[in-house]
Amino acid sequence: MSNNKSVMPTYSRFPISFDHGEGTILWDENGKRYLDFLSGIGVNNLGHCHPKVVEAINTQAGRLIHTSNLYGIPAQEKLADRLTQTCFADLAFFCNSGAEANEAAIKMARKSMRDSGNTSRFEIITAINSFHGRTLATLTATGQEKVHRGFDPLVPGFRYVPYNDIEAVKSAITNYTAAIMVEPIQGEAGIQIPDAGYLTALRKIADEEGLLLILDEVQTGMGRTGKMWCHQWTDVVPDIMTSAKALASGLPMGACLATKEAAKAFSPGTHGSTFGGSPLVSTAALATLSVLLDDDILSEVNAKGEYLLKKLEEIKDHHKLVKSVRSRGLMAAVELNSPAEAVVSVALTRGVLVSCQMGTIIRILPPLTVSFEEIDEAVSILDNAISDVF
Ligand SMILES: *Cc1c(COP(=O)(O)O)cnc(C)c1O
Repeated sequence: MSNNKSVMPTYSRFPISFDHGEGTILWDENGKRYLDFLSGIGVNNLGHCHPKVVEAINTQAGRLIHTSNLYGIPAQEKLADRLTQTCFADLAFFCNSGAEANEAAIKMARKSMRDSGNTSRFEIITAINSFHGRTLATLTATGQEKVHRGFDPLVPGFRYVPYNDIEAVKSAITNYTAAIMVEPIQGEAGIQIPDAGYLTALRKIADEEGLLLILDEVQTGMGRTGKMWCHQWTDVVPDIMTSAKALASGLPMGACLATKEAAKAFSPGTHGSTFGGSPLVSTAALATLSVLLDDDILSEVNAKGEYLLKKLEEIKDHHKLVKSVRSRGLMAAVELNSPAEAVVSVALTRGVLVSCQMGTIIRILPPLTVSFEEIDEAVSILDNAISDVF
């Protein structure tokens, strides 16, 4: 598989492929066991092949997979009801990825301003080192030079400010500004957690200036931080929020959730998706929500997260090269004073999946169903991997 010449090389892949999985555990083609502390990049929040999700998918696949959005889809309607009950939103639009969910949010923000007579307002302020996706508009929204390179001309109407800097946001606002769009915790940037008052201050600015507040909860949502949505750690209510990654446990699904007011922009013909919210993915998402909320998975995330952080702090005590450790729920990072790539490779060889972000940060996203024993085992392997490399 590592010699394959017909898949476009947009990823530099590890020379390992997995054959099957259960909970936190993956087995490769040779039967070797791994602890998945990356969860398919924050997707498999219920672990691999959760029996209730598998059963829902199997049953629905045998009944009806796809019909298109030209007809009613009861599972999609039920999902929209259930999702909006978990948060501020009144309405949901379904698509197939995080990028598409953010694309919908960007379109909604622009059109919402047009429709309300603010015809000059189209600019969206985003944060440096954010990640919002790989479509042309969402890669432009992404505040990373390396994601932009080679794709210009970029989509007009984005401005970047340092994350966690309120004054910078204030200075970036002009008569053209329509919205502020941020992740409540920056995931791809290596779990960057803003100051406690950051979202509250953004909400206040948005209200004073008549702007929309868009929260990208693609990585932070679905229980990852110990609340259903990360912004629920505060009393801030956004106008628009996006979800994807863990939403349907690995079937491709994104959602743009919005207040009635913001969602007015989307009338028939303004936006769409052939696949979005199909009977199959909607059923998978409903099963995911049902396990997450009804089986009380969410209530264990904080205790496990605190335990993980305590263990990571022990790693920091062992190694001078560990600069800092941080987490919110089960979204954690170990930041090194030197490159982390080699540690991630050695950890993989020793049976733990994590990722390297921004060169020096190890990102840790175990399934929310992870056990305390699995945390012990994975952290000890990570500890040894750091010793091995340095
Ligand atoms: C992963 C991610 C995206 C992009 O999602 P895709 O499904 O890959 O398009 C957008 N925003 C955030 C915060 C993400 O973590």
